Amino acid sequence: MKLLENGKRLDGRALDEIRDVKIETGVLKRAAGSAYLEWGNNKVLAGVYYPREMHPKFMRDPTKAVLRCTYNMAPFSVDDRKRPGPDRRSQEISKILSEALSSVVLLEDYPDAGIDVSVEILQADAGTRCAGLTAAAVAIADAGIPMRDLVSSCAAGKIDGEIAVDLMKDEDNYGDSDVPLAILPRKKEVVLLQMDGKMTKEEFKKAYKLAFDGAMKVYEVQKAALLSSMDSVEGGE
Ligand code: ADP
Repeated sequence: MKLLENGKRLDGRALDEIRDVKIETGVLKRAAGSAYLEWGNNKVLAGVYYPREMHPKFMRDPTKAVLRCTYNMAPFSVDDRKRPGPDRRSQEISKILSEALSSVVLLEDYPDAGIDVSVEILQADAGTRCAGLTAAAVAIADAGIPMRDLVSSCAAGKIDGEIAVDLMKDEDNYGDSDVPLAILPRKKEVVLLQMDGKMTKEEFKKAYKLAFDGAMKVYEVQKAALLSSMDSVEGGE
């Protein structure tokens, strides 16, 4: 499949252009914090429960909370029905999201506690780990759980020999490689970096820069969503 036509992508984007990202906070009444995110054709819901005593007991840490993120794809989120329940991929993504978020939440404030974060992929169009992580970080901030920074994420990959930011489904399927990245946007630290496929060192550098810049754009959307939810609280809705 041809993915580039006169430098434009299948959906008309330039190589350095991310898909539209929209975020709304506070969408779930009983969660401590929540966020609904649309990123191109990805639709993601993230919710976090209040820190509470960790179960099972043997997983407790008397020095800090344990943050567990569960990534789940709805059966109707992809073209062919996705078999419900965890699989290797969702376990891997749950683990990397938990690790990325643990690096930013002040877990020491909640010894012996567990913090459960759910990421539900309602519609998938590639880049769902970045979308899920972005939504989860906003949900945790929405809950008022103290954080050192946000986590912002974006991927970049190689399509038809060119490096492009934020691959959508066909680009991910028929492209050559994909590099998902997540950063702490104020500290400029990397908390997730993976690579699927192959790239030269030069290509990787370019992909890294595009993904980084993409994540910084996503950060602006996250900030705006959190600020507008604060405005509505202050204004009494
Ligand atoms: P990411 O969504 O983070 O890019 P992958 O690279 O593993 O993660 O997956 C790319 C895309 O492939 C997903 O966003 C989704 O659109 C599709 N996909 C993933 N798992 C399945 C599945 N079990 N069935 C059909 N499509 C899937």
